[in-house]
Amino acid sequence: MGQLDVNSLSKFWDDFTAVDNVSFTVKSGEFVALLGPSGCGKSTTLRMIAGLEMPDNGELFLNGLPITQMSPGQRGLTMVFQSYALFPHLTVQENILFGLQVRKVHREERQRRLKFAVELVDLGEHLHKKPSQLSGGQCQRVALARSIVSEAPLCLMDEPLSNLDAKLRGQMRTELRALQKKLGMTVLYVTHDQTEAMSMADTIILMNSGRIEQTGRPEQLYNQPETTFVAEFIGSPPMNLIDHGKTLTGIRPEHIHISSDSIPPSVHHTVTVVSCDYLGADTVVQVRLDNHFLLVRVPGHQPLASGRTLSISWKKQNELTFCSSRSQRIAPVQNLTFNNNHKAKEPENAA
Ligand code: ATP
Repeated sequence: MGQLDVNSLSKFWDDFTAVDNVSFTVKSGEFVALLGPSGCGKSTTLRMIAGLEMPDNGELFLNGLPITQMSPGQRGLTMVFQSYALFPHLTVQENILFGLQVRKVHREERQRRLKFAVELVDLGEHLHKKPSQLSGGQCQRVALARSIVSEAPLCLMDEPLSNLDAKLRGQMRTELRALQKKLGMTVLYVTHDQTEAMSMADTIILMNSGRIEQTGRPEQLYNQPETTFVAEFIGSPPMNLIDHGKTLTGIRPEHIHISSDSIPPSVHHTVTVVSCDYLGADTVVQVRLDNHFLLVRVPGHQPLASGRTLSISWKKQNELTFCSSRSQRIAPVQNLTFNNNHKAKEPENAA
C-alpha cells in the first residue's frame, strides 16, 4: 500500500481560490477523512490527486514518486464515487473486472482477485446481475470490489455513502472501515458529514474556504479545536461559544449540568429554558443566558417547560478560550501531537 504526500497544492478558478496551499500526508494503511462544508474545496483536492484536474501550484508524491504530471491511468490510484460509476450494460462480475481487462491482467489472476473481493464484500449471489437489479448498498459493494481487485496503492473515495439511507449508511460505514483495516488499504475519503469522519477516520483534515483549519485524530479535533470553526463544525450539537468581547468561552453541551451542586471549581449561571428536543438516549435543552442561547445535553427524557428558570453549571477545566478577533484558541495547549506533516498553528499566548 502507499503513502501520499500533498505539498502546497493550490487551484484557482479565474480569481477564485478553490484550494489554497494545502499540504498533508496520508500514511500507508491510514484512513484519512477530508472533511468540510459544501464548496470548501474537498472534491477539487481529491480530483487533483486523481489527476482529473491540474493543480496551479504544488506537488504530489505517491510512495515518494512525483505523480503531479502523470495521467490518471499512470498514477495507479483507484476511485470510488458517490454515483458508483458502474456500467449499466455490464454484469456485476464484468464491472468488477473491467479495469483488469483493460490492463490486460492474466485471466487466472483476474479470477483469483475476483474470488477474493467478492467473498469480502459478499456479492457471490449477484455476479450475473446488472446494476439496475441491485440495491444502493449492493451497487456500493460492487464499486468497492472494483477498487479492491485493482490492488492500487491508494484508494480515493468521494462521498461514497451519501446516496444510501441512514440505516444502510451506518452499516456500510462499519463494513468499509473493517475492510480497510483488514486489507491495510490507504484511503483518502471526502465527506461533509462530521459523524462519518469522526466514526471512520484515523485522521481528519478539516477544510474551510480552500484551506486546512486543523488536522488531527478525531478526538483531538473534538477536545482541542484550534479555531471556533473547528469547535462549531465538529460535534452535534456544536460547542457553545459565549462572547465576552475580546474572548469567547467554548463549552460542549454535554459538559453543562442542570443543577447547582457540581464539584468545584465550577461555573454557575441562572438561565431560562427556551426549548427541549428529546432524542431518545438524551435531551438537548436550549436555554437563554443573558443575550446568549446555549445548548445543554442531558441524559434521558427531560421534559422542561419553556420559560422555566434553571441553574446550570460546568467545570472550569472543560472550558476553552478563543480570541474573538482571530477565532484561534488561546487556552494552554496540552499533549498536542500530530501524526502527519500539517503543522498546527500555535496559539499566540500558549503556555
Ligand atoms: P461539495 O461537498 O458541495 O461537493 P466541495 O468541498 O467538494 O463541495 P469543490 O467541489 O471542491 O467543493 O468546489 C470548491 C469550489 O470551487 C466551489 O466554490 C465550486 O463552486 C468551485 N468550483 C469547482 N469546480 C469548478 C469549476 N470547474 N469551475 C469553476 N469553479 C469550480
